[in-house]
Amino acid sequence: MASHVFGRGPAPLPVAARGEGCYIFDDAGRAYLDGSGGAAVSCLGHSDPDVRAAMHAQLDRIAFAHTGFFTSEPAEELAALLCAHAPEGIGKVYLLSGGSEAVEAAIKLARQYFLETGQPDRHRLIARRQSYHGNTLGALAAGGNAWRREKYAPLLVETHHIAPCFEYHFRGDDESAFDYGQRVANELDAEIERLGPETVMAFIAEPVVGATAGAVPAVEGYFRRIREICDRHGVLLILDEVMCGMGRTGTLFACEQDGIAPDIVTIAKGLGAGYAPIGAMLCSDTIHAAIASGSGSFQHGHTYHGHPLAAAAGRAVLGAILDRGLLDQVQTRGQTLSAALDARFGQHPPVGDIRGRGLFRGLELVEDRTTKQSFDPARRLHAKIKAAAMDEGLICYPAGGTVDGRNGDHVLLAPPFIISEDEIGMLVDRLARAVDTALAA
Ligand code: PMP
Repeated sequence: MASHVFGRGPAPLPVAARGEGCYIFDDAGRAYLDGSGGAAVSCLGHSDPDVRAAMHAQLDRIAFAHTGFFTSEPAEELAALLCAHAPEGIGKVYLLSGGSEAVEAAIKLARQYFLETGQPDRHRLIARRQSYHGNTLGALAAGGNAWRREKYAPLLVETHHIAPCFEYHFRGDDESAFDYGQRVANELDAEIERLGPETVMAFIAEPVVGATAGAVPAVEGYFRRIREICDRHGVLLILDEVMCGMGRTGTLFACEQDGIAPDIVTIAKGLGAGYAPIGAMLCSDTIHAAIASGSGSFQHGHTYHGHPLAAAAGRAVLGAILDRGLLDQVQTRGQTLSAALDARFGQHPPVGDIRGRGLFRGLELVEDRTTKQSFDPARRLHAKIKAAAMDEGLICYPAGGTVDGRNGDHVLLAPPFIISEDEIGMLVDRLARAVDTALAA
């Protein structure tokens, strides 16, 4: 049957017919172990009974009421619960339909904050070359992925990019990890000075870089230095936790492990856990108060923001993460996954680096372990791994693309928090076979 869905590419895809726990079944009944939650989405696995029940109950009451007229119980409950567990100072939640929308809202809120506080020249954004913040124009402008941006460059808002914090590739041989982190964080200071602090509104970064790099956390001390630099120049710090937030790294917000609190933080994927399209932009009471006592409201909005059914899903997901002890489980299963990856790939020459936090792990493939030279991009190794993994009955999230000429093919793993020890073993076995098949092709 011809497909009329505007898909991602020419190749026909299997039809996802059913989901259960860590598996997706196609319409022929074949099971795929969901080793990446799609793209770090399905944190509770598929068909979770509590989320389904909460959504059914909400649907039986009311699915939609426009936020111009009403708030709703699930939206209020979700926002309150998020704030109760959010980093210090964060006190308001703006519910949206996904990650890009959350980032767009964050950028616009930063701009409006400076307009309301009498600093109209602050309009510039600084981001990192190794980053993905979404595909809408504002979020795309923030992202550092050259090939995604180049076609749309004339349409993008002014963003300046600095180096990422990527120890595996860029720490000097004679430099400690800490010193390296301070050195690259100081690039933010230099960039703000170069642009003129009075023109810079915000710096945006992912605490653990996901799609562009394969689970790369910053080194110890990096984000504390970033926080100091932002504070010194009056620049807002936006953390994009769309992929790494909602418990994925073992704490509800990834930045807890870096010991800092942002002014604005975005979340999405794990918030709806795949049950509903939902994202959120959380901001500090200070930002909210400035707007409340200024023009009175954030000049933003989407028809579906604050959607009650989506909020009911998010409320149930967050409840499950907190009440079932899943944050601890992410830490212990994350250690199991990390140990299994080390055991299987630690001595495997084409695997140069194994990294990440919690159940957010990445493998990087290199042609030469000593020079860390990546494979020729023309080989499209990541695409071959993805296809071979699907043949093995494994969903993983490989990607390619370089940052400053480094970091080629990598594989991102982000399994559901409910993955068992046996399933972790199965994931690593299937991945190992897929990597070898792809390398032999
Ligand atoms: N920010 C980050 C860090 C992401 O990983 C993504 C999605 N991969 C987005 C933003 C965009 O989210 P969405 O695809 O839901 O628009």
